[in-house]
Amino acid sequence: MKQSKLFIPTLKETPADAESASHQFLVRGGFIRQIAAGIYSYLPLGNKVLQKIETIIREEMNHTGAQELLMPAIQPAELWHESGRWNVYGPELMRLKDRHGRDFALGATHEELITSLIRDELNSYKKLPMTLYQIQTKYRDEKRPRFGLLRGREFIMKDAYSFHASQEDLDQTYKDIYDAYIRIFDRCGLKYRAVIADSGAIGGKDTHEFQALADIGEDTIAYSDESSYAANLEMAEVIFQENKQSGTPDTMQVMDHFEGEPERKLKLVGFKSDDQNILVLACDDDEINEVKVKNFLKLRTIETLEHNEVENYDIQQLPEDVTLLSDQSVKNVVNGYLYNASNKSTYVNINIECDFPEVPCVDLRVIKEGDLSPDKKGKIKFARGIEIGQVFKLGEVYSKSMGASFLDEQGKSKPIIMGCYGIGVSRTLSAVVEQYHDDRGLCWPVALAPFHIHVIPVNVKNNDQLSLATLLHEQLSAKGWDVLIDDRQERAGVKFADSDLIGCPIRITVGKKASEGIVEVKIRQTGEQLELQVESLEQFIY
Ligand code: ATP
Ligand code: MG
Ligand code: MG
Ligand code: MG
Repeated sequence: MKQSKLFIPTLKETPADAESASHQFLVRGGFIRQIAAGIYSYLPLGNKVLQKIETIIREEMNHTGAQELLMPAIQPAELWHESGRWNVYGPELMRLKDRHGRDFALGATHEELITSLIRDELNSYKKLPMTLYQIQTKYRDEKRPRFGLLRGREFIMKDAYSFHASQEDLDQTYKDIYDAYIRIFDRCGLKYRAVIADSGAIGGKDTHEFQALADIGEDTIAYSDESSYAANLEMAEVIFQENKQSGTPDTMQVMDHFEGEPERKLKLVGFKSDDQNILVLACDDDEINEVKVKNFLKLRTIETLEHNEVENYDIQQLPEDVTLLSDQSVKNVVNGYLYNASNKSTYVNINIECDFPEVPCVDLRVIKEGDLSPDKKGKIKFARGIEIGQVFKLGEVYSKSMGASFLDEQGKSKPIIMGCYGIGVSRTLSAVVEQYHDDRGLCWPVALAPFHIHVIPVNVKNNDQLSLATLLHEQLSAKGWDVLIDDRQERAGVKFADSDLIGCPIRITVGKKASEGIVEVKIRQTGEQLELQVESLEQFIY
């Protein structure tokens, strides 16, 4: 492809609002342009990379036996009323009315739509299992859209949904798709961890997130190189009372009693908080069929929620009188660990069990990086992660609320058991850039590069240079490489700067030695460069 004919509007200057490397370089490299907060156009280069990611996802999803379909982005409110989510999803759901005043939502996710689609069709065990997926634009009115494509309000997601007659069958598909995700992210060249993720609020079902390692990541993960231990620390969040005397957080006080029958034991299953509010979830047995939201410290009792309501509970909708004592008392807790935000190395393990009507007892232990993991096989490390995908055993939540049932072998009607599986496609693109850049621009892994090879005739007015470069462009393209030729009449400095910014894995510079058939080859990622006779080029590139 001739660069002179392509729409690659590169920028010299860093855009003022670009807070992350991926945001900065994707805009500067002419891959994306912002239209509004969290809303972007993908320019030809960005679109090309997106398509490469999508191809990898399609190949691996199809390999599991999943079938692709495409559902509408506009969804009638009735479906969200059926699932009960219209009133609980909160302001993240973008809502609109048609000319008749009917309510619709822009799809933030498609559980409702797909359940309505299959409920009349997958009505017998003979038709199960089935996995359907789509690659589609999603809309979420995020409170803080930021970091370019990493947290958009309009973004591209691959979402898959599986339908089963038994839990064992769901377990098998969950594993198959988990394995497919490993192949997808490996092929994208990402460094990532699959971590146990927050399922407490949704009823103790299995869920894993795939977290790309990057300092800009909004999640903190704890993992161990020596063992399989890896978890998102966001699994639980709780208020922590600082010990004001010593200034160190070594105690946590539960000021309020749990209510309930004296014999019942409550176990803490999860916490959620945003900057302002805190939600504490506890359950009375491992089944977690009842979840209580309780107050800690000076928080007043919020309310008691049923399990299926908690799943959709929107933290931003807490009553106004629920406020924290001070910002200082807010700490993030994850996976049963408290995270002391002011001292990043300190985590506190919380373990709360209570016998009514006693005040719950609290066991605190400060753990640090280097401590033994919970399975005791390795040492714990902390890292920041970008959630690029999540797999989740939904169970019967949607099939029950939306009436999706099947007849089993005995002719008995049962709710379909479901799983759901997401990948942030546009977020994955950005996550790759977070891991593959230097201070001059992008350094694409071969599998995702918009072009594999960038051929640069230094002076296009020089016939030797232009004709050799054109020949290379043709020959390498014929061999199946994606080749970009910079045929613009620009200064060498401009061409090299743009080339570094765009980040093709291999650059071939055709300069003064073109008449001798000598070119310079440079590897973008390593900076390694050497002069070669064009005859030996092919050997080098393979
Ligand atoms: P997050 O915790 O980052 O808000 P999520 O858990 O709400 O993400 P899911 O509902 O699990 O997201 O959606 C599946 C995938 O879609 C996520 O794993 C993530 O990769 C991607 N995704 C979610 N929200 C966004 C967003 N605002 N912009 C880009 N990608 C997103
Ligand atoms: Mg989210
Ligand atoms: Mg998440
Ligand atoms: Mg998620």
